[in-house]
Amino acid sequence: MADCLFCRIVNREIPASIVYEDERVLAFNDINPQAPLHALVIPKRHIERLTDLTPDDDAIVGELARRAAAIASAKGYADGGFRTVFNTNADAGQTVFHVHLHLLAGRRLGWPPG
Ligand code: 5GP
Ligand code: ZN
Repeated sequence: MADCLFCRIVNREIPASIVYEDERVLAFNDINPQAPLHALVIPKRHIERLTDLTPDDDAIVGELARRAAAIASAKGYADGGFRTVFNTNADAGQTVFHVHLHLLAGRRLGWPPG
């Protein structure tokens, strides 16, 4: 989608600090990190929000989760722990309407979240 920020990152129209890429998935560091590791793991294909998922998207959602875990492991955070979050719509604070899995690690993360 031409006017989607994360599609523009996928298309290299906007720079990002990329931590992982394959044919279907891109992961990059959040521009406003909330923890020592704060990456966003996204499908390259534009999907606006979690409520738009169809059964055809089951595989890509699995890839996002598996990739987040792999990045956390590779960066040495698996044993200490990490958090993965999809924010959906206003009350959860979704600001970019291209599905993204937040990956946070490297500090004690409170629960319940704010
Ligand atoms: P949301 O609030 O939609 O769950 O998360 C959107 C995230 O995208 C925020 O954590 C925000 O800091 C991040 N973000 C917004 N614009 C950019 C950008 O241009 N580059 C990168 N790397 N992250 C961004
Ligand atoms: Zn998009």
